[in-house]
Amino acid sequence: MEVMEQINDFSDERNKSWCVHCGEWIGNVKISRDHVPSKSLVLKPYPENLPVVLICETCNGKFSPDEEYLSAFLSCVLTGSTKPDIQKIPRAKRILQNSQKLRARIEKSKTEYKTIGGDTQTIWKPEYDRIKRVIVKNARGHAYFEYGEPMLEEPSHVSTVPLDSLTEQERNEFETVDFGGLFPEVGSRMMTRVLTGQDLSDGWIMVQDGVYRYSVVQQGRILVRSVLCEYLATEVFWNY
Ligand SMILES: [Zn+2]
Repeated sequence: MEVMEQINDFSDERNKSWCVHCGEWIGNVKISRDHVPSKSLVLKPYPENLPVVLICETCNGKFSPDEEYLSAFLSCVLTGSTKPDIQKIPRAKRILQNSQKLRARIEKSKTEYKTIGGDTQTIWKPEYDRIKRVIVKNARGHAYFEYGEPMLEEPSHVSTVPLDSLTEQERNEFETVDFGGLFPEVGSRMMTRVLTGQDLSDGWIMVQDGVYRYSVVQQGRILVRSVLCEYLATEVFWNY
């Protein structure tokens, strides 16, 4: 069992009054505990003490269909098929079985072609809007959890690409977590991680090996990166 240790947080006190997604003051609305990353993006058994942020119930409910889509889509790509029974991500089996419509949509996004050498190659075209919503949601959660920064604005940039589509140089840049020689703000979770090495590997926060890792750097801007299933590389940033 992988254990993520709970890190006491000091930054919550300052900013916990708003839902980081809609900006609603959470004293006014029903709130719910939202895991970041979304539980749908990690596998059972879940890591203990998954980071949690408080958001409003309305926002929390809105993300579920997109989260299910991303989980199913990732699994289909990794499996090379939309057949429920052979899915590499167990949750995707249930999602695809329960929704013929979703399965058909993902199947439609698949193109197979023959290479000159005669091999069959498969290209999957994701529904970027749906993936983007989940990625931005998690990026907001990560930024808030690690630095106590509610990033209510639209991000300046969002990208999601397969990790292996990056050139060697791009890959190196992506993997490098550069705090610019500056320590994160005293009292932030990120500072605690830097001091204790908690769940950290080369600056990446390891949520579940081979399944989900992320990094957050606050330096002139907030930059959040994540890697899903060691397949999908995501990057979100907000310029100030
Ligand atoms: Zn909200």
